[in-house]
Amino acid sequence: MARSYVHEARKRVGPRRPRIRPIIERLAAAHPDARIALEQQNPLELLVAVMLSAQTTDVNVNQVTQALFRKYRRPEDYLAVPPEELERDIYRTGFFRQKAKAIRGTMRMLVEEYDGEVPRRIEDLVRLPGVARKTANVVAAELGNPQGIVVDTHVRRLSQRLGLTRHDDPVKIERDLQKLVPRDEWGRFPHLLIWHGRRVCIARRPLCEECVLTDLCPASRV
Ligand code: SF4
Repeated sequence: MARSYVHEARKRVGPRRPRIRPIIERLAAAHPDARIALEQQNPLELLVAVMLSAQTTDVNVNQVTQALFRKYRRPEDYLAVPPEELERDIYRTGFFRQKAKAIRGTMRMLVEEYDGEVPRRIEDLVRLPGVARKTANVVAAELGNPQGIVVDTHVRRLSQRLGLTRHDDPVKIERDLQKLVPRDEWGRFPHLLIWHGRRVCIARRPLCEECVLTDLCPASRV
């Protein structure tokens, strides 16, 4: 995109701070069902589902966890079977060896250090084997204690298109978003961008003519 065009587009929509509230409000109205797509009933299932979702789709994880969560109900259950059995049970999510190892390590730490409970704080969550910051952010937010903003591929793409960040690195994007998005929206905001990214602001072909943000978006084609 030519520089002058980008400049003109940014001028048209104005600075980012006054745009953030209307962006959130309009997306919330357009996607009232925006929420985590992973099916889970409690903090332990949430943690396992998010760990399994690396490098695969939520739909795929949901298919695997249907049976998995009937069989494994407590952290001890994951440690009571041979590692190969857990690997077989999560095989269809891909990277099953690494994931099984991470889940077993996490379950051991939950039992030994957290009384079998999933901790709420990011500092504790990232101590769990195989739990990176993104996973910790998702879990903390879903448990009602968001301490950061989840940046996945949709959040990154939409933040860039909406001119909320000029960065490409997820850590820097998260920092930009934290300065802009009101704290009480940190949990909901990524879901709004993710659902909008799946339904309207699609990676290859954004449906700008159907978008509720055209007048707030410097990348709008309308
Ligand atoms: S106007 Fe187009 S590029 Fe901007 S958020 Fe909407 S769909 Fe995406």
